[in-house]
Amino acid sequence: MNEYILTVGLEVHAELKTRTKMFCDSRNDADETRPNVNVCPVCMGHPGTLPVINKEAVKHVLKVGLALGGKLADFTEFDRKNYFYPDIPKGYQLSQYEFPLVSGGNLKGIKITRVHLEEDTATSLHDVGDYSLVDFNRAGVPLMELVTEPVIHSAKEAGDFARELQLVLRYLRVSDANMEKGEMRVEANISLSKDSKKFGTKVEVKNLNSFRAVERAILYEVDRHASLLDSGEKVIQETRGWDEGVGKTFSQRRKEESNDYRYFPDPDLPKLVIKDIPEFEQQAIEKEMSELPENKRRRYALLGIKEGDIETFLPNRSLASLFEEVAKELTEKEQVLLASNYLTSDLVGLIKKARSDADTMSFLFSATEFAELIRMVSDKKLSSRGAKDILALMFETGGSPEVLAKSQGLLQMSNEGELQQTVKEILSANPKVVQDYLSGKMPALQFLVGQGMKATKGSANPEVLRQIFVSLLK
Ligand code: MN
Repeated sequence: MNEYILTVGLEVHAELKTRTKMFCDSRNDADETRPNVNVCPVCMGHPGTLPVINKEAVKHVLKVGLALGGKLADFTEFDRKNYFYPDIPKGYQLSQYEFPLVSGGNLKGIKITRVHLEEDTATSLHDVGDYSLVDFNRAGVPLMELVTEPVIHSAKEAGDFARELQLVLRYLRVSDANMEKGEMRVEANISLSKDSKKFGTKVEVKNLNSFRAVERAILYEVDRHASLLDSGEKVIQETRGWDEGVGKTFSQRRKEESNDYRYFPDPDLPKLVIKDIPEFEQQAIEKEMSELPENKRRRYALLGIKEGDIETFLPNRSLASLFEEVAKELTEKEQVLLASNYLTSDLVGLIKKARSDADTMSFLFSATEFAELIRMVSDKKLSSRGAKDILALMFETGGSPEVLAKSQGLLQMSNEGELQQTVKEILSANPKVVQDYLSGKMPALQFLVGQGMKATKGSANPEVLRQIFVSLLK
């Protein structure tokens, strides 16, 4: 099976975050649960109505184009893609055919073919009875379509690309891109071939609604194609769906003849000479763009943050901005790394346990208080065990770590003078253990340190204790 070369190209649709729909002023609200509330004669396709282009949606796609290093169109227009289906009230979808807003570009080394702007369809409900229902709230919502070149060669690469694209869309604030809500939808064009210069027969898998589904569906198709080819059979060019429950793809429709959509430019919409519209000028768009994930990655790497921590920060913007504020308050590099550690492991653990969202939540403690906690650990005023307990309290109720540590009796005694007295008492109470230690039995030291921790109710710094024992036993 290894002799086959897998080739995948992705098509990703993402609903854009705008106040109104693509060509009318009906609200674009993905959270609306009442059916057919956000509709008007324009998005319902009534005769005699005129569409108007949503500028915000155009700007969103131009931002995506710049983020991917693509070429923004000088000229663009909208085309009618004609087909009949109950979820498409006009009998055509407004899309872009010959002149996409963005051409070319690159993400994670994957070449982008184009990014264009179109409108979403309505949602059909088929499982209500022996009839179907259609909800038009989504009809006409601005939809971005991104197409990659067929240059992906593994399921993981495809999944990683989709994950990174979601990050980019969120960082640009152009889409919430929640796959489970259908705000971002992936289709994969998959083929297997023995000849690196020739593609095999392509199968298109739709309805991939999670990153895991993208990866699993590709792996499933690799196995399916390989066993067909191994037994001398042919792969049929078709569209397949993905059944998450059984973990299999299934045939939806054969694609011997390609659909004839009879594309033509929409006569009701103006053509756009992008470069002549001040709001669409590259510099104006760039000014509105926030930092991209790749830049954040570089900045964090320069701070010495380890890769795993960086990847935890990236999708969790609240956590990341807390980290950046904390880092400003810390003077030593070691402390910054320690802060990164506590945030990405301990705090993330607490956030998960509370079922909160590290991307959007606000914390009950301040960055200054968190920085204080880190300084207490690095100054050995607090053990790492103690710090975890204090952090949990700060997370639940807020408050100063110093005050919390005092009230919990967790402030560590690092004062040697105070500890020496305790150590001397332990030594005279345990002559046998002292004898063991002197005759070279190292576990004896561990026992003595343990006695010291017990005597100080855990408030001693174990490392300082150990040093005092060693020096007094010399
Ligand atoms: Mn499309």
